[in-house]
Amino acid sequence: MESVDFGPSMPGRYWHALADGRVQCDLCPRECKLHEGQRGLCFVRARQGDQMVLTTYSRSSGFCLDPIEKKPLNHFLPGTSVLSFGTAGCNLTCKFCQNWDISKARADDRLQQHATPEAIAQAAVRTGARSVAFTYNDPVIFLEYAVDVAAACHEAGVKTVAVTAGYIGEAARSELFSAMDAANIDLKGFTENFYRRLCTGSLDAVLDTLCYVKHETKTWLEITTLLIPGENDSPQEVAALSEWVMAKLGADVPLHFTAFHPDFKMLDKPYTPAATLARAREIARSKGLHYVYTGNVHDREGSSTWCPGCGELLIERDWYELGEWNLENGRCRSCGCKISGVFEEQRGDWGARRVPVRLAGVV
Ligand code: SF4
Repeated sequence: MESVDFGPSMPGRYWHALADGRVQCDLCPRECKLHEGQRGLCFVRARQGDQMVLTTYSRSSGFCLDPIEKKPLNHFLPGTSVLSFGTAGCNLTCKFCQNWDISKARADDRLQQHATPEAIAQAAVRTGARSVAFTYNDPVIFLEYAVDVAAACHEAGVKTVAVTAGYIGEAARSELFSAMDAANIDLKGFTENFYRRLCTGSLDAVLDTLCYVKHETKTWLEITTLLIPGENDSPQEVAALSEWVMAKLGADVPLHFTAFHPDFKMLDKPYTPAATLARAREIARSKGLHYVYTGNVHDREGSSTWCPGCGELLIERDWYELGEWNLENGRCRSCGCKISGVFEEQRGDWGARRVPVRLAGVV
């Protein structure tokens, strides 16, 4: 049988042939089982002939310099810029997706720029970005491209950041995360019902990834929970989530509670009130977590870093804008308490800017 042409594509890893003639993709827990010519749920991985292919290798949805705080990462090179890009597609189906124009795009709709790993690394060097982020859509589904870009970045002295839902198969996660210096992993809710109903995914798989990244890798880890009114913002659910993070990951993993805005298939929910974010932060702190942040709102108290030893202000933030800096050698200047994260002597001064980048030069 003639194989289907998906356009430019790259052999994909993490799959096996089934006895019934189908091919099973093992990259994520969805385990799509495909006949010749079929695409997986993520749309960008497909069966071509007797193998899986990635149809978005070297194809990007565009590049921007962002503040690293926007990923969000508050303990990884604060104040620096990060060259951010994504491809197309996603392996979850979140009804509240805040990036749906990219995650739901078919490759041919969106992907404009041809971007080799070396060109991306060089663009980061040229623009002064300290890191490159795989974001906008989930790097899990473009793993082969992401790890090649990461290798080119490391060669050029640029760090790498994955922004991901952590919905990845056991076999693949070591390859992806060993290529990443930092990761922000979404913990979208804390019930199986939430993941099943709103994302067609599974909470357990994400919890496994969080434990894996924290305990089995050197990747710096932060977590984000988007609080959706009436869906995952009850004090009980926030308390259960925080207790789990404290027990399984420890007090020093930063946890971000961010504000939802109505989008995609969830237009009937209101914006998250600032009071809900503040309440969630207080609950998480009461469970012992040291670094709990509010996001997508102006909240100096909730977005700044405070010393877990003496309570002093360490890094002042207002949304993505940084102010006071009271760290020395990664320690609190007042009491000497060691602060977890990746810090340099001085913070960066990128500010809140967002600058589109063409690989040939800054727009
Ligand atoms: S990565 Fe894509 S093709 Fe593979 S199992 Fe997940 S959704 Fe299916």
